[in-house]
This record gives sequence, structure tokens and C-alpha cells, in this order.
Amino acid sequence: MKTTNTINDYFNRPLRDLRISVTDKCNFRCTYCMPAEIFGPDYPFLKRNELLSYEEIERLTKIFVHSLGVQKIRITGGEPLMRKDLPNLINKIKQINGVCDIAMTTNGSLLPKHAQALKEAGLSRVSISLDSLNDEVFGKINGRGVTVKAVMDGIEAAAEVGLKVKINMVVKRGMNDHEIIPMAKYFREKGHILRFIEYMDVGNTNKWNLKDVYPKRQIIEDIDQIMPVEAIDPNYTGEVASRYRYIGSDAEIGVISSVSDAFCSTCNRARLSANGTLYTCLFASKGHDLRDPLRSKLSDEQLAEYLQTIWHGRKDRYSVERSESTTKRTKIEMSHIGG
Ligand code: SAM
Ligand code: SF4
Ligand code: SF4
Repeated sequence: MKTTNTINDYFNRPLRDLRISVTDKCNFRCTYCMPAEIFGPDYPFLKRNELLSYEEIERLTKIFVHSLGVQKIRITGGEPLMRKDLPNLINKIKQINGVCDIAMTTNGSLLPKHAQALKEAGLSRVSISLDSLNDEVFGKINGRGVTVKAVMDGIEAAAEVGLKVKINMVVKRGMNDHEIIPMAKYFREKGHILRFIEYMDVGNTNKWNLKDVYPKRQIIEDIDQIMPVEAIDPNYTGEVASRYRYIGSDAEIGVISSVSDAFCSTCNRARLSANGTLYTCLFASKGHDLRDPLRSKLSDEQLAEYLQTIWHGRKDRYSVERSESTTKRTKIEMSHIGG
């Protein structure tokens, strides 16, 4: 197979970052992602034979890296640690020549059990989601009464084994905007980068409303009043978070402003769902099935050509085009597509 081709899309954006969802299941029911009243006991989660196997994921990842120019892999879900033997997959991806970085997004609750094996398998970084330091608020948000300590234990376990840790906090007006300052103070002290994520209109089940978005400008204003911050340059082109530094220190925070300040012009990400559908935008209405081609007799070269054609034709820039009508169209759920 040819090595390290870069294919640009319609707007001249390369593909660098592949986010792989390994399961659509989760042990939490965050209100903004998998509301419990919809994701109940009868919800039709994917069955085992519908999931891509680790061998299939490995094969596709190789093609993405060698024939499209992917460099970074992020494992996500659902809750990725709900899938058995995840270190086995990490280890397979780690062996692929050309992969520079393997990260994972997790709710952290299962990290105390798995952090060591994940690190040994080759995982370098984890983004751990935590939306509040208050048990009552957090228990309501995660829909399962999970305590803050359960996630803190995960954060500690990850740091202890040497994984680089970032914290993700989704901010929704009236839900946890009052937690911005306590979270900022706590993680500044702890030395972990905290990234605030604007509440997004992913999927159709979370009853998203623009009024509930607590925008980047307001988040930064709130923090700046208590702990002055200054904007700093991105680490690389296409970085999703805008970075800020607390003045007079090295500690930093980030804001992911998908709603109030779109960053589609540099978007170099694709998402592979657990059942093998490729989505070229987080807000896609439909994707491209890769599981059937993968299970047919297509060669790696033929699969590579198919993927290159998909990326070459990509015109997505949802956040730039967001409007009343686009937010109402049918979109894939976050727990399916992976964050
Ligand atoms: N279960 C893992 C976790 O929570 O970290 C990984 C999957 S989760 C879908 C990935 C990220 O998406 C999390 O940081 C989560 O907070 C974020 N997320 C989910 N729904 C969101 C929404 N409607 N708006 C903004 N971020 C959201
Ligand atoms: Fe689960 Fe993550 Fe979605 Fe919360 S945000 S319900 S932890 S997949
Ligand atoms: Fe990328 Fe789609 Fe998000 Fe724009 S809206 S940054 S194209 S995922």
C-alpha cells in the first residue's frame, strides 16, 4: 500500500484526526447526551455482531493513516471503557507506523481499574469529563447519581500511571454555569488543563436550545474577573480549543466554542462509529457505511480509494452554517458518533 498520502477535501482541509467510537453504550446518562428517558432499558443499542471487531478497526486505521494522512487517533464512545479488552485495541493501533498520538475521551469512572493497562498498551493522553465539583449537581447531570469522587479517583489513577490528563466540562446555562469558577480554581491548583465545552446541538434527543448555550465570551469574562487570563496561540493548526493562560503563570484553560465561534475552516477530523459508519462532521445526518465494504472482498487498495473519494468530496461546515432550520434536521446522537 502507498504510504502517507494526504487527501484534501472540497475546502482544502486535510484529514489528520480520526475519532473511533468503540461502543454506543455508557454507564452514565448525562442529560445533554443520553437522556435517561430516551436511553432506557428498551433502547436498541448495537448488538455485538454489529460492532467492528478490533481487527477490523485496526485494518481501517492503517488505511486511514497510510492512504489519507491521519496522524492522531482518539478512542471514544459511548463510554469506551465499557468495551472489553480496550488495551488490546490500543496496542494494535500503537504498532501502526505513522500514528503519532493515541488519546481517549472517557467519563473517568472506570479508569482506576484500567489506567495502568491502557498506559502500558500505548495510550498517551486522556480527556476526562467532569461537569461539576458538587455531588448534587453532578449526580443530576450524569443521570445516575455518580459521585464527583468516582471521577476524581479516575483522574488520579490516570495521572499516577503517567497519562497526560485534560478535563472536559460541558457548560449549560442554568445547569452548571455557577460551577465555572470553582472548577477553574480547582484544576488550576491541581495542574490539569480544564477545557470548557459549549453545549452543542448534537443529535436530536437533548432538546437543545440556543438560549441554554453559555458562550465562550461569557466563560472567559467570568474567569477573567477573578483570575485574569490572556489568549495564547494554538499548539497546531486545527486545534479545537482556544487557549488562554492565567496571567503570570504557566497554567492554562481552553474553550471549545463550536456554537458561538465556529472553527470549521480548519476542521481535519473524521469519526468512525462503533458499527463502522464514517461521519465527516459531528453534526452529520448520515454517514458512509464501511462495515459492508470491509466485510466484502475489497482489497486494502480498493478501500483506500473509497475513503479518499469520500474525503475528497467533503463539504461539511455545519457550525458556520448553523441556523434555526439546520438545528432541527435529523442528526446522529453523540453517544453513537463519539465526541
Ligand atoms: N463517555 C465519554 C465522556 O463522556 O467523556 C466519551 C464520549 S462523550 C460523547 C465525549 C464528550 O462529548 C464528553 O466530553 C461530553 O461531555 C461531550 N458531550 C456530550 N454531549 C454534548 C453536548 N450536547 N454538547 C457538548 N458536549 C457534549
Ligand atoms: Fe456517557 Fe459520555 Fe454521553 Fe455522559 S457524555 S452519557 S458519559 S457518553
Ligand atoms: Fe468540523 Fe463539522 Fe464541527 Fe465544523 S461543525 S468543526 S465541519 S465537525
